Amino acid sequence: MSSTRTDTTACILCSRNCGLSVELEGSHLKKIRGDKSHPLTQGYICQKAARLEHYQNQDDRLTSPLQRQPDGSFKPVSWDEALEDIAGRLLAIRNHHGGDAFAFLGGGGQGNHLGGAYSRQLLAAMNSRFSYNSLGQEKTGDFWVNGRLFGSQRCHTTEDVEHADFVLFIGTNPFQAHGIPNARDTLKHIQKDPNRTMVVVDPRRSETARLADIHLQLRPGTDSYLLSAMLAIIVREGLHDRDFLARRCLGFEEVEQALLTIPVADYARRADVPLDQLEKVARDFASAKTACVRIDLGIQQTLHTTLNGYLEKLLYLLTGNFGVRGGNNLHTMLLPILGDTDERNPKLKRTAHHGMFPIAGIYPPNILPDEILHNGEDRVRAVFVDSANPLVTWADTAAYEKAFAALELSVVVDVAMTETARAAHYVLPASSQFEKWEATGFNLEFPVNGFHLRHPLFPARAGTLPEPEIYTRLLEKMGELPPAFPKLERIARLESGRGLYPAYLAALGVTLASNRRWRPLAASIVYRTLGKSLPDKAAATAPLLPLAMVYAQKHYAAVKRAGHRGNRLTLGANLFRAILNGRSGVLLSEHQFSDLWSFIAHEDGFIHLAIPEMLAELRQLEAETLPGSDHPFILMAGERRSYNANQIYRDPAWRKVDPHGAMRMHPNDAEALALTTGDQARCRSAWGSIEVVIEVDDSVRTGMVTLPHGYGMRFRDSAPIGPELNRLTGSDHCDPLSRTPFHKYVPVQIEKADSATGEQ
Ligand code: SF4
Repeated sequence: MSSTRTDTTACILCSRNCGLSVELEGSHLKKIRGDKSHPLTQGYICQKAARLEHYQNQDDRLTSPLQRQPDGSFKPVSWDEALEDIAGRLLAIRNHHGGDAFAFLGGGGQGNHLGGAYSRQLLAAMNSRFSYNSLGQEKTGDFWVNGRLFGSQRCHTTEDVEHADFVLFIGTNPFQAHGIPNARDTLKHIQKDPNRTMVVVDPRRSETARLADIHLQLRPGTDSYLLSAMLAIIVREGLHDRDFLARRCLGFEEVEQALLTIPVADYARRADVPLDQLEKVARDFASAKTACVRIDLGIQQTLHTTLNGYLEKLLYLLTGNFGVRGGNNLHTMLLPILGDTDERNPKLKRTAHHGMFPIAGIYPPNILPDEILHNGEDRVRAVFVDSANPLVTWADTAAYEKAFAALELSVVVDVAMTETARAAHYVLPASSQFEKWEATGFNLEFPVNGFHLRHPLFPARAGTLPEPEIYTRLLEKMGELPPAFPKLERIARLESGRGLYPAYLAALGVTLASNRRWRPLAASIVYRTLGKSLPDKAAATAPLLPLAMVYAQKHYAAVKRAGHRGNRLTLGANLFRAILNGRSGVLLSEHQFSDLWSFIAHEDGFIHLAIPEMLAELRQLEAETLPGSDHPFILMAGERRSYNANQIYRDPAWRKVDPHGAMRMHPNDAEALALTTGDQARCRSAWGSIEVVIEVDDSVRTGMVTLPHGYGMRFRDSAPIGPELNRLTGSDHCDPLSRTPFHKYVPVQIEKADSATGEQ
C-alpha cells in the first residue's frame, strides 16, 4: 500500500484558482483543504474543490493518440504516427488554401493557461489569426468597451469589493459563481457591517440577493433600461463627480446630453422595478464614500450586451469611483492573455463569411459554424481544439455538429474523451492539470497582484504528453523548428547555476532576429533550450523568464514593494526564480493607486467617455420594445449552482445534489402548466428542443426559467446527462457588435413531457 504525502496546488474550477493543500496517496487525491500559505486566497475554498479526484481519475481519461477510421471508430496510434500525419495534413491545407483555412479553438480552460503559450504558436505556423475561444462568447463586449474607454483592449478592470462601502452586483451571483476574493467570506462581511451596503440586480433571488440590503429583481433583458435610468438620475441630480470628470475624462458633455433625455420612470417600469428603490440605489451609490460595481455573465450574455458593459462602467466613472481603494480599477497581468485588436484598423483580419473582426485577438464562437460551412474557397477547413468542448459549450450544438462533419481535419487535445473529441479526426491525450507544470492567467488583482505556478503532483499518466511537448513536437514535424538549438542550450547550461541569464537572453535575441519565422515560436525555443537547464523538470515554465523580465521592467517599483530583490538587470530573473520556487504562489506586485493612471493606453492619458456606437444604441433604447415571441418563457441558460462547474468534471458522481440539472420554474407558472417538482417537461426554442426535469422554485420571476451550465456530457459512452443547453441556443441570437450569445435571454415554450409531440 502506498504511503500518503502532502503537497500544495490550486483549484482549477473557476477563475479564483484558490490555493489547495492536498493529501495524496499513489495517484489519488485523498484530502483537499484550503492552503493557508497561499498569498491571495489564504485557505479559502468552496465545496467544489473537495471533489477534484473526480477530474484526476475519471473513467473518460485518454491514454493514447486516437485516429478516426473510415467506419467512424477510433484506432490507437503512436505519438509519432499521429503527429507526422497531422503535420503533413496541416501543411497541405496551408499550402493549398492559405492560413485562413485554419482556426484554433480554445487554448486555456480555467486553469490551463501555461499551455496556451505553446498552442498559440500553431496559429503563427499556419499563417492564421483565427483564434476562437470561450471569452468570445462571454467577455469580448466588455473588452471592446475597455478598448474605447481606456485606449487598449488589454486594459482590464477589477473591483475592490473587499473595501467598498457600497457594492453593486449586477447579473452576478458571487455566492455561487465566485469571481471576487474569497467570495462567501467577503459577502458575509459586507452583510454584517451596518456601514456597508450591498445591492443586487438580478432577475432571480439568488443566494447573493438573499444577503443583500436591496434586491432589484428586474425583468430579464432590461438591464440597459435599469442602468441608464440610474445614470440619468445621477446626472439629473448633479451627483456626478465633476472634479474627477474634469481631471481624468474627456467627452462627459456628450454622455450627459444622452443621459438627460432618458425617461427614468418609463425605464423603471420597463425593468419592472419600483422607481423609489431605483432612485435610492442611484443616489446612495453616487454619494457613498467608496463604491464599486461587479458584473458577470448576467449582463454580458443578454440583450444589449455591449451597451450594458458601457453603462456599468459609466456608473463608477461618472461618480469618480475609479482608481481608488474600494472602487473599480485597472490591473496588470503577467501572462498576456488579451490582445488589442481595434476593428477601426483596416489591416485587421476579418472572417470570410461574416466579415467579423476579433476583439482582444479573439473571434466569437457564434460565427464559426458559418465560417466552416459557407460555400467559398476561403472557408475554414481545419481546426485544432485545445482544452475546450465546443460541441457542448458553444451556442448552437446542431450547427457545430454539422460544421465539424464538414471539416477536412479536426484535432482535439484534451485529457478526456469529450463530445468534440468524438467528432474529431485525431484525439491527442494531454496530461492532467495535476501531472504537469501549469498556471492560470487570471491574476486580476489590484493593487496587490499574485501568480501561482503549479508544479506536478503526480507523474504524467502513461501515453499522455503535456501541451508544451505536443506543440513543440508538432512544430518540429512541420519543419517550422529545427530539432535542436545546441548553442542556446549550451549557454543556458552555463548560466543556470547563477540563475541569471544575460548571455542566454542576448543569444536568444540574435537567434530570433536571424529568422523571422522563429519569432512567434519563441516559447518552444526556450522550452527546448533554457527549459532543459531548469530544475525539477520545469522546462515548460521557461517562457515565464522573459515574461517575468518584461513585467519587472514595466512595474519595477511595484515588484520591489512585493518583496522581490534586485536591480534593473536582475529583478526579472529573481522574480522568475521566486515564481518557480513559490509552491503556494507568490505576490507579483504591490502597486499604489496613483500607478493606475499609467495603465491608461490613450496617448493623452484621459478616459474617453463618449463612444459614438454606444451613445447611438442608448438613444435607440426608448423606441425599442422587447422582442415579441410565440415562446412565452425566457430561459436564463447557464445558471451557476452548488454542483455545476466548467466541463472539467465529466463523472456525474461528483455532484452531491441536482443530478438532472433541473429547470427552475416559479410556482405560478408550474401550476398553470400542471407541473410539479420532478416532472419531465419538454423545452422548445426556435433552434431546438430538449427534455428537462422541473424544480418548482419561487426564487425566479414568473415567466422566466433557469437551467445550469456544466451538464449535457456523456460519460462512459452514456447518453448526454442533464440539459444540453446549446441545443436550445442559436448562432444568430447574439449581440450585433460583439456576437456574444444571448444565453440569458432565450425565448422558449415549455410543456409537460407526456403532452409533448415526442420531437427530438
Ligand atoms: S471553485 Fe473557485 S472558489 Fe471554489 S475552490 Fe475552486 S477556485 Fe476556489
